[in-house]
Amino acid sequence: MRELLGALLISFGLCVSSEKATAKSVEFVDEQNLQLRHLEPVARQMKVFFRDEFPTKIRVLSKKGNGLSKFDCATNTIVIDEAVPPTRKSAVIAHEAAHLGLCQLTYGANLKTEFRFLDEGFATLEEFRFLRQTEKFRERALRLSLEQLKIGNLGFDRVFDWRAYSRDSSGRINSYSYAVGASFIMMLFDRGGETNLRRFFTDLGRTENFEESLKSIFQMNLMEAEKEWKRFIINKGQFGAFS
Ligand SMILES: [Zn+2]
Repeated sequence: MRELLGALLISFGLCVSSEKATAKSVEFVDEQNLQLRHLEPVARQMKVFFRDEFPTKIRVLSKKGNGLSKFDCATNTIVIDEAVPPTRKSAVIAHEAAHLGLCQLTYGANLKTEFRFLDEGFATLEEFRFLRQTEKFRERALRLSLEQLKIGNLGFDRVFDWRAYSRDSSGRINSYSYAVGASFIMMLFDRGGETNLRRFFTDLGRTENFEESLKSIFQMNLMEAEKEWKRFIINKGQFGAFS
């Protein structure tokens, strides 16, 4: 009886805390800690995927930079380049916010070099989801990925070395690299939906082992996942993203 009562209390406790947790709000604030209300749609979008595994407050700083925006997981800060056109700013913030969400969901494993293709792929998909251009981006990402696959520049051995894969010889970003990362996320999403994609990221944070998490959430080893990924790009890239 005592055990049963204990179990009841525990489940009641969990229930209460999860109810409280879902009520958590997300705020974007500026340097002066003033709420940036125009970013509420970004916050709502992030809540759909991350639920409560997302920072409750994110500071957005605007700085003159080199055209690149940045995120800092230790302080939940986004630094956006002043040069980003106003119409693009919220989408870029959605991209950077997705990185911050993954930092929380994976306990920072998303920042490990070999997982950056997942990190950038996911953030880029969120950016285009914010712009309501998911379908257009999917098609473009698959086309670019197919091109890289055809020239032998797509595979885990390539993307695990993210620094080399994502930059050209003069240090500029290879735009196809983000599309290639996104194509892998799209394959996982098509296989297991949002729930399993989220479970996969959570598991990756626990294991920090790509293959182990692939096996436990998607029942694929490394070789099978790579084969599936390439097949996905060939089928969807040739015949249209929604064939
Ligand atoms: Zn990014």
